[in-house]
This record gives sequence, structure tokens and C-alpha cells, in this order.
Amino acid sequence: MAESPYPMLSVEAALASVLAQASPLPPVTIPARQALGYILAGEIRASEPLPPFPASVKDGYAVIAADGPGTYPLIGEVTAGRMADFTVAPGTVAYVTTGAPMPPGADAVVMVEQTEKRWPRNGPAQVEIRARVRAGDDVRPVGVDVAPGELVLEAGTRLGPAEIGLLATAGVTDVLVYPRPKVAVLSTGDELVEPGTPLEPGQIRDSNRAMLIAAIQAVGGEAVDLGISGDSQASLEASVQGGLAKADVLLTSGGVSMGDLDLIKPLLEHAGQVHFGRVRMKPGKPITFATTITANADADHTCLVFGLPGNPVSSLVTFYLFAVPAIRALAGHPDPHLRRVQARLSQPLSLDPARPEYHRATLRWDTAANGFVAESTGSQSSSRLLSMRTANALLELPEREGELPAGSLVSALLIGSLVD
Ligand code: AMP
Ligand code: MG
Repeated sequence: MAESPYPMLSVEAALASVLAQASPLPPVTIPARQALGYILAGEIRASEPLPPFPASVKDGYAVIAADGPGTYPLIGEVTAGRMADFTVAPGTVAYVTTGAPMPPGADAVVMVEQTEKRWPRNGPAQVEIRARVRAGDDVRPVGVDVAPGELVLEAGTRLGPAEIGLLATAGVTDVLVYPRPKVAVLSTGDELVEPGTPLEPGQIRDSNRAMLIAAIQAVGGEAVDLGISGDSQASLEASVQGGLAKADVLLTSGGVSMGDLDLIKPLLEHAGQVHFGRVRMKPGKPITFATTITANADADHTCLVFGLPGNPVSSLVTFYLFAVPAIRALAGHPDPHLRRVQARLSQPLSLDPARPEYHRATLRWDTAANGFVAESTGSQSSSRLLSMRTANALLELPEREGELPAGSLVSALLIGSLVD
């Protein structure tokens, strides 16, 4: 029986070998407004306090707390964005709105609900203050939200909506981030045609490329489409070389198993260094990882190459297990690993005696069980892409005889959102 010359690595060892080759790309400066999803390459500190002035927390009346409840003349008003041109003297009050700078003299705010305004026939309006407040009540002191010099965002922070808001607050318009890795995708196989093309005998549509391009975009990479290559040495070499020069990561799919036209492994041996060519896992055993170095004008360019298996499910599962952590590491993620949670099986699952299996499942929170429940996507055949439909997790099933009963607690790697 023909045996692959490549040693069989565990998933953990293979992933460690990938991450050893994946360091963050050189940082770039981009406009803060376009930085959603990027990882910050340097820390952000506040140069000014927030609020920059003592501010009212409520719509109401600025008072001197020691005056206590009573009826006082209204001596002015300050709305947000204006400054008082008067001082609140003992025995007087001033109208303020939320976010308005406190008028000098006042030390507390009484909210409008606890007051009543009256207009005497002559003289200034009078305000009845019904609540007893202490100095400082409903006033945000200078710097209470953000102190000057305070660390607003740490290096390595992923910029989400709140972080983009903090950049705006801190007055940061341009921001140093790690760039999105360029990830090139090449489908290989004489049988493959574009989705819009009618099928000739023996042909199938290329699903992997559209799928992987979408997956790259979903994890924050910049996809580069290298099209389809037939199974000829010359065509593969030309396409692969094109990818190696312009991308940080190259994904090929197909051509890594033991068939006569599985030419990717020898090609990568020739183009660079193959780190592994077999992993003990189901699906995806023939996944191959290599690095290549291309001489560039300024610096040598390293490309991480993943030879993904051709079966659509194997292709996507190995993409998540190995390429996603690599892409996240290049993008500057301090912890590039997929996230794990625990989930209970909603049905029994049979195990593979020889290889750990990454069983596709949909996790949802079960209120009664107070935990995640994992529902299998059905038949796990590696050609059946329907087994990835709606899957947001890969259950890490141990290699063992027999099956896991319903209700078993298993660890699950998240590959999709728990929000949807
Ligand atoms: P291979 O890894 O090249 O031996 O391919 C394994 C199986 O996956 C074969 O049935 C191929 O036809 C199929 N396959 C390979 N590439 C693709 C692709 N891009 N889209 C859909 N199926 C594919
Ligand atoms: Mg093939």
C-alpha cells in the first residue's frame, strides 16, 4: 500500500508549526474612521481630560448644595456648548442642561423633576428646589470619564465600534494598525468550472474559491482571487508563483492527496520549505503547510502556503483550524487561536477510532440547561458542504471507539458568530 512520506502530526503540533511562522505584518497608518476590525499597533493615551470642564449630568438647576431646599431666584441659564457669563451666588440658582459646563459658584445640580419654576408678576423667575443634594451631586468633575494621560486603548486591541468611538473622543484621526493580510486563493483541478458555466461531462463547479474568499473576508483578510488552475505542472507553477509574490498567505485547494495528479506537495517542496504534509484529523488529513521566500526589491517576502484538501468541507475545516489563526497572527491579534466553549450534545455522535474529528454543529444557548447545546449538521461526509451550512462551531471529538451519548459535554471551536 502506498504510504505518504510525510509524518502524521497532531493538530496541536501542526498549529504550533504554523504559528511559529506567522508574525505580525509591519504596521501602517490609516484613517481612524476606516479602522473597524483592525488591531491597534501602538497604545492610545488621552491628551486631555473628559469632560474637559465640570459638566451637569442632568437637565435641572445648578445650585449651591448648602442652600438646601427652598425657593430661589433664577439668575441665568447654561446650555450644552455654552459657557456661563455669570456666577451662582448663595441663594440663587441657574438653569443647566445635560452636558452643560457648570456655572462658577454652583456645586451641585437638582434635576428638573424635583423643582418647580414660577413667574412672579415682577422680578426674575423663581425656582422651588424640593430636593436636598450634596456638593458634587449630578456633576461630572473634570476628567472623571477619561483622565489626562490615561491609557485609552492598549496596543493589540481589536478596534470595534466602542474603540472607534474612543479614538474619536481622544481626537485621534489617524491610527497605527497592523494591515489586513493579503490572502490569495487558487482552486486546482481539471474538473472545475466557474459557477456561471454549464457543466460538461465530468465537470463540477468550483465551490471552494468563492467559499474561501468569503471566509477570508469574514476573518478580516484581503482576498486575492487567483482563479482555477488545471492539474498540469506548468499551469500550477505559474499560478502558485503569481500568488507567492503578491500575497502574505496563499491557499490552494485540491491536489494534496495521493492521486497521480496531486502535484501541490512536490511543487511546494520545490518552491520553499514544507513544514508538514499530513495531520491526524478528520476531515482534512492531507493538509499541507509550507513557507516560501521571494526576493523583493526592498526586502525578502515570506508567504505562508496552505495546501488545503479539495473536498469542500475538508478545505473549509482546515482553513479554520490552521489558516485562520495564521491570518489573525499576521493581522496582529495577540491571541490568534480560535475561541473554545463547552457545549452539550443534543444527540449521540459516533466517534472515529483513529483520528480526532471536527464535527460541524450549530451551537445555541439553552436557557433551561444554562449552557450551549450543539446540534449536529447531519452527515459529516467531507464532500457534503451542506454539513457546514449554519455551522458556527467545530466540535472537537476525541479519537475513540464507539459513540458519545446525547448530553455529553464536548469542547467546541467557534468558527461563526453566536450572535446570529
Ligand atoms: P483533490 O483534493 O484534488 O483530490 O479533490 C478531492 C475532491 O474534491 C474531488 O472530488 C474534487 O473534485 C473535489 N474538489 C476539488 N477542488 C474543488 C473545488 N474547488 N470545488 C469543489 N470541489 C472540489
Ligand atoms: Mg484534484
